[in-house]
Amino acid sequence: GHSSEDLEVRTYTETRRISEEFNKISMQMRVLDESRQEFVSNVSHELKTPITSMKVLADSLLTQEEVPNELYREFMGDIAEEIERENKIITDLLSLVKMDKKAATLNIEPVDMNDLLELILKRLRPIAAKKNIEMVLESFRPVTAEVDEGRLTLAFTNLVENAIKYNKENGWVHVSLDADHKFFYVKVMDSGMGIPEESLDYIFERFYRVDKSHSSEIDGTGLGLAIAKSAVLVHKGAIKVSSKLGEGTTFSVRIPLTYIA
Ligand code: ADP
Repeated sequence: GHSSEDLEVRTYTETRRISEEFNKISMQMRVLDESRQEFVSNVSHELKTPITSMKVLADSLLTQEEVPNELYREFMGDIAEEIERENKIITDLLSLVKMDKKAATLNIEPVDMNDLLELILKRLRPIAAKKNIEMVLESFRPVTAEVDEGRLTLAFTNLVENAIKYNKENGWVHVSLDADHKFFYVKVMDSGMGIPEESLDYIFERFYRVDKSHSSEIDGTGLGLAIAKSAVLVHKGAIKVSSKLGEGTTFSVRIPLTYIA
């Protein structure tokens, strides 16, 4: 039989195990809480910036007795731009929140991936044309996959938009589609400015932007790639980036052909 000493040792070990488990969970909760707080503080900051600019612009118009028409138009134009920026941030945030919802909200159907990519390129061609960027879609085989069409449209739209936005005049964007018996593969390649190596680890993070895209005044919220990654991950896929500064960037996406719940 068991002596009472044995029992004491067992109870002690058990208590210690439970207390260690408890510590581990509370640690995990703290990390979660910190990242949530950081996200909220980032969001607030991003949303406040355009409002601060608009306030300054509006005040400087209001405090002048007589505003020359030209100046009035200039400031109103700036205010309209800030409103557009605010609108873009809110739209992206709503997309991100939608993406982050549980897999239960997925709308999985068979989708012709060639059609999906073709439509994205067609929609973005007018923007590419402004910089005389050539856009090519190369499909190596027909691909029908069980996916959420809306989420993947947003993901690939963001990738192709970036490939245009961070490209040069007369550049090119090359999208390819391929598959094997398990996965389909989409690559978005561009001849753009590239991403510095030290930034590659961070570009999928919310609100992260490479310094250069700040200073060169290319519009963006820093949420596009976070949205794309979230959409790919919810399909149990993977997204990778490779880039050479001054030469171009390639995003490679791999997604299972059949949805795994
Ligand atoms: P943004 O709204 O700034 O485009 P993203 O999350 O889509 O935000 O991208 C994050 C950052 O990664 C961008 O600010 C840019 O610096 C860099 N980046 C993304 N795609 C490309 C690309 N195709 N070529 C060069 N840089 C890119």
